[in-house]
Amino acid sequence: MTDLLFRANATLRTATAIVLASGPDGIVLDRTVFYPRSGGQPGDTGSLAWDGGQTAIADTIKGEADTVIHVPAQGAAPPPVGAAVTATLDRPRRFAHMRMHTALHLLCALLPGAAVTGGQIGADKSRLDLDLAVVPTKEEIESGLNALAAGDHPVTTEWVDESVLDTNPALVRTLSVKPPRGTGRLRLVRIGAGETPIDLQPCGGTHVARTGEVGLLRVLKIENKGRQNRRIAVALAE
Ligand SMILES: [Zn+2]
Repeated sequence: MTDLLFRANATLRTATAIVLASGPDGIVLDRTVFYPRSGGQPGDTGSLAWDGGQTAIADTIKGEADTVIHVPAQGAAPPPVGAAVTATLDRPRRFAHMRMHTALHLLCALLPGAAVTGGQIGADKSRLDLDLAVVPTKEEIESGLNALAAGDHPVTTEWVDESVLDTNPALVRTLSVKPPRGTGRLRLVRIGAGETPIDLQPCGGTHVARTGEVGLLRVLKIENKGRQNRRIAVALAE
C-alpha cells in the first residue's frame, strides 16, 4: 500500500520515497504526492529522480491493494526497485486541478438538492452534470460562484465513521460515483466555518485551502443533456 501524502497536505509538491515495484507500465512507491486519477480528477504528472537517473511521469492511476501507479512517459527508463527517489509533481497543473475541483464543490453549493450525474475536472476547463428542475442563467451561476469564491471560506477535511451515510444519505450529491465503503471511515470535505457548511460531502480529491484561492471563474456554457439534466462548463478566468 502507498502512503497518500496529498490526503493530509494537498500543497506538497515533492517528497522522497522508496521504489517498491518498477517497470515500463508503472512504478509503485512507498509514499507519494501524486494524485491517482479518480472522482473526475486527472492523475498527476511530473518526474521521479534518483541517484543515476530520472523518469518523466505521464499519468498516475490507482493500482491494486491501495497502491498508486506512476505511469512513466513512453520510452522512459524506470528506476530500480529499492532506489530512493525524489518525486516531484507538475505543480501548476495540479494547482489548476485543485482550484477547479473546489469550484465544482461551490457549484454544488450554489445548486442545493440537485443530484450530480457526472463530472470531469481539467486544468483548462471542467464540467458538472446536474439534474436541475429550475435552470439558472449562465450569468446567475457565474456571479454566484464568484461570490462564494471571493468569500474566502476555509476548505477543510475530516474523517468520520462511514455509518454517517446511513443516517444522512443526503450528504452524497453524486449519483454516478458512490463513496467507497468497507473501510469503516469516510473522508468529508467541508467548505465554510459556520454552523451550516456551504458544502459538505464525501470526497477523496485535492482542494485549495480557502475558496479565495479558486480565483475568478467563468461559466462557459450550459448544455441540455436530457429532460432535466444540464452540463455546466466552467473555466478559470485568470
Ligand atoms: Zn472534492
